[in-house]
Amino acid sequence: MTPETQKQLGITEASAKKLAKLHIHTLWDLVLHLPLRYEDETHITPIADAPLATPVQIEAEVVHQEVQFRPRKQLLVKVEDAAGSLLFLRFIHFYPSQQKQLAVGNRIRALGEIKHGFFGNEMIHPKIRSADHQGLAESLTPVYPTVNGLNQPTLRRLIQAALNQLPLHDSLPDALLSQLKLPHLAESLALLHAPPPELSVRDIQNGALPAWQRLKFDELLAQQLSMRLARQKRLSGSAAPIHGNQSLSTPLLAALPFALTAAQQRTLAEISHDLAQPHPMHRLLQGDVGSGKTIVAALAALAAIEAGFQVAVMAPTEILAEQHYLKFSQWLAPLGVNIAWLSGSLKKRAKDAAKADMANGNTQLAIGTHALFQDDVAFHNLGLVIVDEQHRFGVAQRLALKDKGADVHQLMMSATPIPRTLAMSFFADLDVSIIDELPPGRTPIKTKLVNNARRAEVEGFVRHTVAQGRQVYWVCPLIEESETLQLQTATDTHAQLQTAFADLRVGLVHGRLKAAEKAAVMQAFSSGSLHILVATTVIEVGVDVPNASLMVIEHAERMGLAQLHQLRGRVGRGAAASVCVLLFAEPLSDLAKARLKVIFEHTDGFEIARQDLNIRGPGEFLGARQSGAPMLRFANLEEDLPLLEAARNLAPQLLAQQPEVVEKHLSRWLASREHYLGA
Ligand code: ADP
Ligand code: MG
Repeated sequence: MTPETQKQLGITEASAKKLAKLHIHTLWDLVLHLPLRYEDETHITPIADAPLATPVQIEAEVVHQEVQFRPRKQLLVKVEDAAGSLLFLRFIHFYPSQQKQLAVGNRIRALGEIKHGFFGNEMIHPKIRSADHQGLAESLTPVYPTVNGLNQPTLRRLIQAALNQLPLHDSLPDALLSQLKLPHLAESLALLHAPPPELSVRDIQNGALPAWQRLKFDELLAQQLSMRLARQKRLSGSAAPIHGNQSLSTPLLAALPFALTAAQQRTLAEISHDLAQPHPMHRLLQGDVGSGKTIVAALAALAAIEAGFQVAVMAPTEILAEQHYLKFSQWLAPLGVNIAWLSGSLKKRAKDAAKADMANGNTQLAIGTHALFQDDVAFHNLGLVIVDEQHRFGVAQRLALKDKGADVHQLMMSATPIPRTLAMSFFADLDVSIIDELPPGRTPIKTKLVNNARRAEVEGFVRHTVAQGRQVYWVCPLIEESETLQLQTATDTHAQLQTAFADLRVGLVHGRLKAAEKAAVMQAFSSGSLHILVATTVIEVGVDVPNASLMVIEHAERMGLAQLHQLRGRVGRGAAASVCVLLFAEPLSDLAKARLKVIFEHTDGFEIARQDLNIRGPGEFLGARQSGAPMLRFANLEEDLPLLEAARNLAPQLLAQQPEVVEKHLSRWLASREHYLGA
């Protein structure tokens, strides 16, 4: 908070620090600090009429008070209201001042929820105030999110001060507001901070209240405007147009053991068209697990390399990056392309050498983790960045990429379909190409749900599969709470399977292995020298071993749908009929049952993603959770779809006709968040 703001509010440095904890730095932040909920102190409910488990205010006289010590120290107070009804008030934590306030004979008001208690009906930790000389509140009392040492009355006072001092001129013209049937912003904020007497708690907590609608709309509009501006900026920015001459792609296509599917050809054409533009491409290549995105990306990379540019391929995990490294090397090294590998775990010397080759232009294709976009990495003439599973990167990494890759073409790849509302909002500046068919000749994967009690049968099936010359993945249970436990489980499972299959070669791969060890195990499995690969969920993305035809997943009930789908997609990549065994342990929660049913019944990733959205809502896309930055504070993409659509329709109109409105609106709403929204 600036000293001026502090002075305007008349608060100390210490209070300013507390406000900072609530992310409040300006008057505007204060007025946007909206109540969590409201308390109704506008009337008194007779104890006898009070509904249970609903906040009510009662007025009564204290008739008894005692401090009990069993089962623990607590203050127990008995009160009686005008109608003669009794109620207990109970406090586990209390101060002497409260005992005084609740002395026998005092008339008090208590606000809280009544529950059935041990002695009779009671309120636990109600809010107490004296009933003497105090009229009832005229309107609902807002309750704000707060931190220790900053009480509600202080917050309320500061917010009211901010409301009075801040010129809340509307950023949107009146004509527009009446057309949208939305109230003014100043009026909306005033109402939400100090509701008028006629509003009930139900009314004001309803998101359909015009005041709420106004805030949500403003927020969504700011998002739409900034997205469109980002797009305009990108389209007006410059990037070197890339025209491949096919000198490398033709021999690669000739050497491939397969022909591209129609969907692969179409998406490649879309990408090539973008690459030839003089402004940066920003395209997502979306396709289900196994749909063959990698070859499309490799061909896009070749176009850039043919035109004399460097290409960077970035993946969110070392395992996945290594898989790309192996695949790209297999395809491109024979064509004479210089490929470099860069990851965080590389030894300093190797890393320095790789960086030197990237900087002097020797390297034509660099593959790695986000280490590729660290500060000290420089490219000679980077033309294209390919990012796999972009949504798995954290916001910081995406920003680093955004800054470094500002004037280069970007191709993102993902197997996770973007829900429509997200595509309309956060991904508005993204062109999408979809691979909507699988390569021919795949035999569909058979999914079996097997109770963990029948594990022995599964072991028999593993033997049978190996006897036929096929390989097996065995995925260990996910233990989200503890990485150490997770590791332990993987090691235990490995030991146990080694005993069970003493005559087979069983490998183990998990997240804690050194990169070189991981690569060695994966290589051994790819080349067929391991029969069984015990793995944690690190193999979830991108691993490609066509000879593996059986996937066993332990405790499948603990995993999310997207994860199960990705894991299952590791098999069914060759000609052999593949099986995915989902081991589960009872009892199953309803959620787990619903998920297992979906994964059992469906193989189409888009359908699974759709059902997933139904089951659990959109929250997890985008890596927004990792960032901790709220994507939207007031609006909810699912509930507020009509507002989102209205904002989306209005944005281009405002940008074209009323730039001053855009400017005003964005400067108010996006001050510090713009950077995030575009990431
Ligand atoms: P994903 O889209 O999940 O990244 P991959 O690119 O790893 O899929 O491709 C899965 C497998 O399919 C790989 O073994 C790849 O070589 C193979 N493949 C890709 N395109 C075709 C095609 N047109 N015909 C046959 N096999 C293909
Ligand atoms: Mg892939």
